[in-house]
Amino acid sequence: MPRFSVTPVTHWVLVPPSHRPPEALLTTLVASRGRSDRLTHTEHLPARRARHSAWPDSIRPEIRAAALELGVERPWAHQAEAMNLARAGRTVVLATGTASGKSLGYLAPVLSELLDGTEAPNGRGSTALYLAPTKALAADQRRRATELAPPRVRAALYDGDTPAQEREWVRQYASYVLTNPDMLHRGILPAHSRWASFLKALHYVVIDECHTYRGVFGSHVAQVLRRLRRLCRRYGSEPVFLLASATAADPAAAAERLTGLPAVAVTEDASPRGPLVFALWEPPLTEYVGENGAPVRRTATAEAAYLLTDLVADGTRTVAFVRSRRAAELVALQAQDNLDATLANRVAAYRGGYLAEERRALERDLHSGRLLGLASTSALELGVDVSGLDAVLLAGYPGTRASLWQQAGRAGREGQGALAVLIARDDPLDTYLVHHPEALFERPVEATVLDPDNPHVLAPHLCAAAAELPLGPEDRDLFGPASDQLLPVLEQRGLLRRRSDGCWYWTRRERAADAVDLRGSGGNPVQIVEVSTGRLLGTVDAAAAHTTVHTGAVHLHRGRTYLVRELDLETSVALVESANPSYTTAARDTTAISVLSTDRSVAWGAGRLSFGSVEVVNQVVGFLRKRISTGEILGETKLDLPPRTLRTRAVWWSVTEEQLLDATIPFDQLPGAAHAAEHASIGLLPLFATCDRWDIGGVSVPLHPDTRLPTVFVYDGHPGGAGFAEHGFRRAVEWLTATRDAIAACECDRGCPSCVQSPKCGNGNDPLDKAGAVRLLTVLLAGAPRE
Ligand SMILES: [Zn+2]
Ligand SMILES: [Zn+2]
Repeated sequence: MPRFSVTPVTHWVLVPPSHRPPEALLTTLVASRGRSDRLTHTEHLPARRARHSAWPDSIRPEIRAAALELGVERPWAHQAEAMNLARAGRTVVLATGTASGKSLGYLAPVLSELLDGTEAPNGRGSTALYLAPTKALAADQRRRATELAPPRVRAALYDGDTPAQEREWVRQYASYVLTNPDMLHRGILPAHSRWASFLKALHYVVIDECHTYRGVFGSHVAQVLRRLRRLCRRYGSEPVFLLASATAADPAAAAERLTGLPAVAVTEDASPRGPLVFALWEPPLTEYVGENGAPVRRTATAEAAYLLTDLVADGTRTVAFVRSRRAAELVALQAQDNLDATLANRVAAYRGGYLAEERRALERDLHSGRLLGLASTSALELGVDVSGLDAVLLAGYPGTRASLWQQAGRAGREGQGALAVLIARDDPLDTYLVHHPEALFERPVEATVLDPDNPHVLAPHLCAAAAELPLGPEDRDLFGPASDQLLPVLEQRGLLRRRSDGCWYWTRRERAADAVDLRGSGGNPVQIVEVSTGRLLGTVDAAAAHTTVHTGAVHLHRGRTYLVRELDLETSVALVESANPSYTTAARDTTAISVLSTDRSVAWGAGRLSFGSVEVVNQVVGFLRKRISTGEILGETKLDLPPRTLRTRAVWWSVTEEQLLDATIPFDQLPGAAHAAEHASIGLLPLFATCDRWDIGGVSVPLHPDTRLPTVFVYDGHPGGAGFAEHGFRRAVEWLTATRDAIAACECDRGCPSCVQSPKCGNGNDPLDKAGAVRLLTVLLAGAPRE
């Protein structure tokens, strides 16, 4: 029976597969080729039965009838709970799994309210605003709204593609406006007087996929929402916020930080699920040696090709998710090579850039069973409906639990068991996860992190708000105490002026909102331009440009490989050409860090943990070329790039000389021990805060001039910080314990990419002391406060 959910529903009639229970499939994978030591954990996720509730009385009969048409007789318990809270005017965040029908949870109360409003004399007694991170999602949600509500609820898209002649109609007549935060920031708020009647009647604001609003982007969106709330107040409305999120730690806290309002979380998922066997898998060490003689593990993609081969040979319908387009091609080719001719043509690659008809053909073949194996780039790029598989392989942790469950959720058909295998990549986070299944299968530990108080974020929004309506003392509770210090600074810079009425006014002729790009992070982004065609392929943040698109760099962009011919800093352009070199590049840099202010500091025994503002001066001085297949160093090239200065937030810890003695770390081993601990801790932070390893940086100093002690710093890679370092400070005990465990659990002797080596190390991973790092973290953690 079709259910109302975010994921596309499969309507194909499936041919009976040569189906074996997932346990049997796993046994086969393990038994062949002596792989018994690679399976680190098997989790049996039992089937979950649906729990239903009655429709709340506050949901209009028209909506219930339409839901019934779509196959929903009664809502699931979590949907009903969200509906009740929403109708009671509470800010609610619905944080349940993929395909758990979150959209019905917020749409039913919103559309009921809008329907009530159609009975008002002007036909628009209430309005609602829907925000999605992408245009495509907003378009999809508009379709869902029109399926559920009678046409007199007027749902309309309002984004960059909306023709000028339609915009006026949307402002005057639409009751449900679907847009994105960028459009709200740039198009709607600055022109609020034209939206007066819409804002006056605004009853609900829906924020879909709210876990995507994290880091600097999330902090900007939080300020845009405060500007929206301020204007609503002036127009006399006080909308209720409804949020939908992937499962994460403490969704209520994240929703509160995003909206600035107290929120209730609904997290108990009552939707049904088939049984799933989830295996954690670590590829074996190979005979190759990498940087500094470290052992190299077989890559997750190579291992995925082998497992895909065996599953296809068994007649099991399988998709292997990989990181890049190139890897998708490689996995498919390798599996085809391994299989005999009759089966080889039943394996294919799927990657972005395929035409719609090619995608449809692949879907058809997969569902009919003609195709048994597919190697594909991530679910987001996918655009193909491949639910209902027997097995899913994940080549590497996809970065967040949300994406992990999205990919694993492709496996399983109603009433049948399925197999998912997470294959660890050669890095500390993946290594930790395959040895600590509780981090994946028990309570979520990763939180959606953002920091709206970052002055680099807040300042331009104060300007934009003042341009919308003069800022008065009554706005202080919205923008917080940080605004008190910023407003005089903005006046000094000639951007705002305080008049005799006590309010702050925007003084410039240009539009204040144009000064902020919600998705940028300061500085002109560098444009990536293809030499042969002159085509603009995309951009990289200014902050990352020196390390990722320097002259001579091999750069992966949307899964394709390019060679950078020249980085022109004057024009902020990187000229690239499509290439397929047999090597990757790694920038080498020098970094100095100084403490500007210590905001919080706690004693950990004799040691100390601190959080505050720092200045990081970084200079990229050259790069190494490494052979892809083996990691072998092919050569080093010098670069002449200017230093870059970053003022940001950091978490740091230091130990005393006595502690070093206790840990038996002689001074000459200290640099390697601290450096190794720094690398692994950067690798593990994304487990607690939803950041990429690349959003943060680190420095370890044997004797730091500011602390006068051996100190390890981990800092946010964006000006003013994005909340990651702060979150690291708050969760430091768990974070650094996980770091130590990850290093200690690695089976290598002296350090490898699975534990302490880092692909982004500016020092060529030298010196590193694995055993010293474990001892150093142990002595530090011995003094850590116990909960
Ligand atoms: Zn190792
Ligand atoms: Zn390093």
